[in-house]
Amino acid sequence: MGARGPGRTPLERRCEERLRELALPARRKMTIEEVCEHVGARRGRPLLVLPTALPTGSPHGLWVATDRNDYVFLEERLAPIHQHQVVLHEIGHLVCDHDTSPVLAAEVSRLLLPSLDPGLVRRVLGRGHTDSEAEIEAELVGSLIGRRLSSWTVCRDRPVPPEAHELVARLAVLGPPGHPGAED
Ligand SMILES: [Zn+2]
Repeated sequence: MGARGPGRTPLERRCEERLRELALPARRKMTIEEVCEHVGARRGRPLLVLPTALPTGSPHGLWVATDRNDYVFLEERLAPIHQHQVVLHEIGHLVCDHDTSPVLAAEVSRLLLPSLDPGLVRRVLGRGHTDSEAEIEAELVGSLIGRRLSSWTVCRDRPVPPEAHELVARLAVLGPPGHPGAED
């Protein structure tokens, strides 16, 4: 993408600045777990990547912010290379502190909120909802972080907070968005 070249766009320069602010260790490559730990420590909020079976028709990745944690839910049936891309994209949104799209928030609230404490989910952002500059920025920042990765695995043995179990359970019983038979 020519990010190091002289012809960088203002957006590319801004994304590089985001990466610098993130202060990832420069001397070594990291695993995605280490990146999540690093980002979580800087934000003062644990960041967990949770592969799960998302409902048909929903985005392949969702960033869900609760009072205490940030979660990136990831469609577990995606090919590993695509999972990689989706997770980095969502972390890109998180690092850029992007606002949620009101349209998407309403859509995802329909999916997530009916049985949840409405106070639990603070914000939700999913992949593929708009073609805005924020999407391009998330993609660029994600790919810059991706260059620092040594390997790609999503650890499944990590303890999962109870609220995440609730979110996963909620996602698992859903049908396609907007389907009238999808209530529990
Ligand atoms: Zn996005």
